Amino acid sequence: MRTVLLGAPGSGKGTQGVVLSTKYAIPQISTGDLLRAAVAAGSELGKKAKTAMDAGALVSDDIVIGLIRERISQDDAHNGYILDGFPRNIAQAEALDATLEELEQPLQGVVLLDVAFDELMQRLTGRRTCKDCGAIFNIHLSPPKKPDHCDKCDGELFQRADDNEETIGNRLNVYQEQTAPLVDYYQQQQKLHSIVGSGDIDTITEQIGHVFDKI
Ligand code: AMP
Repeated sequence: MRTVLLGAPGSGKGTQGVVLSTKYAIPQISTGDLLRAAVAAGSELGKKAKTAMDAGALVSDDIVIGLIRERISQDDAHNGYILDGFPRNIAQAEALDATLEELEQPLQGVVLLDVAFDELMQRLTGRRTCKDCGAIFNIHLSPPKKPDHCDKCDGELFQRADDNEETIGNRLNVYQEQTAPLVDYYQQQQKLHSIVGSGDIDTITEQIGHVFDKI
């Protein structure tokens, strides 16, 4: 099942991607996670990406398209994948389509997580991630039982470097200007399924599951 989760920063792509990846036994592939790993490793690619990431801007298309091509060709992606945070502009979507066309394995569905703009800021400033298992919490909306520790594995929670108010503002602008046009792009391909991304997490997972089961 070759799918994309589309939505603004903070719309829940990462949270849903983790759960759906387990449920459907296909990897969640997040360009943000791949880039953060490259930054943490101090690789050349990481150094090139860091400035753009710190500013909330997009990393160059060449870098992310290269990362995705390599990642989807790995063994665990043979039965499909959930792309999270890629594509983020029309050029990336076209490059993805061209690559998948060559492989004769086109995308099967794109799920848009639709969340009101006002809610996104609260979600992003409150977001905390577990260093050990990657589980995501929100100190305003879904706080962990023990402050700063993960409910699932007791790992320490951290705040992403780009989840500060100034960078968040830039990221939301970049979404509106560069990523939102993908809604039309995938609608024209009749691949878009829009889901309300506010409310109970399990209900949203169920709704995405209904879409995945049909494609
Ligand atoms: P995310 O974890 O998806 O919110 O991504 C964090 C940051 O990584 C973004 O603000 C961008 O700087 C960069 N990034 C992630 N995915 C992409 C992409 N597909 N294209 C360009 N930059 C990206």
